[in-house]
Amino acid sequence: MTPLERALRDRIKVEGPISVEAFMEACNAYYYATRDPLGVDGDFTTAPEISQMFGEMIGAALADVWKRAGAPSDAIYAELGPGRGTLAADVLRVLGAAGFAGEAHFVETSPVLRDAQALTIADAEWHDLIDDLPQRPFLLVANEFLDALPVRQFVGGVERRIAIAAGGLAFDRDGEIVEDSPAREQAARQIAERLVSNGGVAILVDYGHERSAAGETLQAMCRHHFVPVLSNAGEQDLTAHVDFEAIGRSATDAGAAVTRLVDQGEWLIRLGIEARAEALSRANAERSQDIAAALHRLTSADEMGSLFKVMAIHSPNWPAPAGFA
Ligand code: SAH
Repeated sequence: MTPLERALRDRIKVEGPISVEAFMEACNAYYYATRDPLGVDGDFTTAPEISQMFGEMIGAALADVWKRAGAPSDAIYAELGPGRGTLAADVLRVLGAAGFAGEAHFVETSPVLRDAQALTIADAEWHDLIDDLPQRPFLLVANEFLDALPVRQFVGGVERRIAIAAGGLAFDRDGEIVEDSPAREQAARQIAERLVSNGGVAILVDYGHERSAAGETLQAMCRHHFVPVLSNAGEQDLTAHVDFEAIGRSATDAGAAVTRLVDQGEWLIRLGIEARAEALSRANAERSQDIAAALHRLTSADEMGSLFKVMAIHSPNWPAPAGFA
């Protein structure tokens, strides 16, 4: 039994069965606090860890929108759940070349990942919560952040819970599942409120769906394989698909502007990732096969290209970033 499962069993003995939301929150807090899960030797690989081209396209989109907004010098770069800091480094290199010299502010709760991020972006400032970000215009990025925030599950209108059964932890009911996520909607609302008061733009990348729909999407990953959600509590990555309709609604309700949702592959191609891949291959002929493979992984519909989606939220006083029209 994992240390977290022992703690969760004790909690269930005192409180009774706990919600899926409480379980996912406890598991991910423990999981991220105790390891760097990224990469081939870890549990899963994210787009910025596949290739620098991913962050460079985001950097190009942010540089362009920042310039069109008048290049405000008080703007900051903000990132939610920056992992190893790889994405931030790629984005900031492109932003810097465009004349942006703003501070980097990271919202990150894991001490292990904060240490990893400090090796990449030494002068960043760290925060526990979105609401702790400074009141300044921001260029914000969140890649695979929302999918780690907890979801609730309902069966026939009743919230699904986790109890102790003979063999371990078990769901208290099965049936047709509907998911929602107050934590994600709160994050979208907080981002939008900041954008409305201070200006700026946020680019959100995650796997998910365009319209709210019934269905179970909660999943667990360990060493690049799907594993049962309730096994090895705290030792595997729990995620659920992002309901972008709910995210967009929370942001619009807070007064921000929301772009259309675009497939990651389509968005990266519109921003010029193919030309970037060609230029990188010309400059590094010995790496051209790796570059082609990374381009395929990021953009192709049978890889990450259409499972992952991109949405931007922006201040009503700022233009929309490129690639969404
Ligand atoms: N964006 C990175 C890492 C994605 S993994 C990449 O694309 O490679 C999810 C990240 O979100 C990790 O950095 C994790 O520690 C962080 N995270 C998860 N839940 C969080 C929370 N509630 N508050 C702040 N950071 C969180």
